[in-house]
Amino acid sequence: MHMNEAAYAHCRIDLMSWTRYRDRLADDPIIFVPVGALEQHGPHLPMGCDAILAAAMTARVADALGGLQMPTLTYGYKSQARSGGGQLFPGTTSLDGATLTSMVQDILRELARHGGRRVVLVNGHVENQWFLTEGIDLALRELSLSGKAMQVVRCEYWNYTPQPVLESLFEDTFPGVDLEHAALLETSMMLALHPELVDLEAMPEDALGSFPGHDRYPQDGRGVPASGVLAPASRASAEKGALLIESTVAAMVAALGQAFSETMR
Ligand SMILES: [Zn+2]
Repeated sequence: MHMNEAAYAHCRIDLMSWTRYRDRLADDPIIFVPVGALEQHGPHLPMGCDAILAAAMTARVADALGGLQMPTLTYGYKSQARSGGGQLFPGTTSLDGATLTSMVQDILRELARHGGRRVVLVNGHVENQWFLTEGIDLALRELSLSGKAMQVVRCEYWNYTPQPVLESLFEDTFPGVDLEHAALLETSMMLALHPELVDLEAMPEDALGSFPGHDRYPQDGRGVPASGVLAPASRASAEKGALLIESTVAAMVAALGQAFSETMR
């Protein structure tokens, strides 16, 4: 598997002409929409991390399944303390839930107008999940009124990482997906894909976010390590990142290839 994004550019509709896109649609391809965020990811990672990783996973899966890749949604729903450090960091730039929901609904409506019938939203930012779901729900309700059929899948790419891979990377305990913000998993994958964007000298000392069973508003940053990194990142490596990407993509290809096989064909 290439770690170079240019190897997957042939799937991207923003890099193709409308006539080429029209011709590709005739094969009823799965159309993938990566969704990320602009959110602090500690002092060592770029703020576009979630969008970069969602797009990288999407590119590899779309390539393997003969699909098309839409431009990434690079803004996401508001950062929460326990999963992204919260809204108190400079740079974190977030959408209201209704805005994200509307963007998803608008894009699905347009894809349906083009004749797209099978769509996958590949999410890379924990906080987006239910607003993507709401956008899908509103779009499908609208489309059903006009007699158009569309099948949509929403997925978080990290749910596909095989358990044995996670266990091999975390020799002791896996802190959980939420606390893995800017930590071992994301840092490793960024090292594999874009080492030039990772500042290892700025890597903070290992710390762990600590949160009660409730969320408080207005947000006050309680429990969030000062660096914004919610779990230890120091044992990240490009090798771990390549293993994560390859095993996760393989599982996504198998699952998403299946997801549409019994419907609409
Ligand atoms: Zn992230």
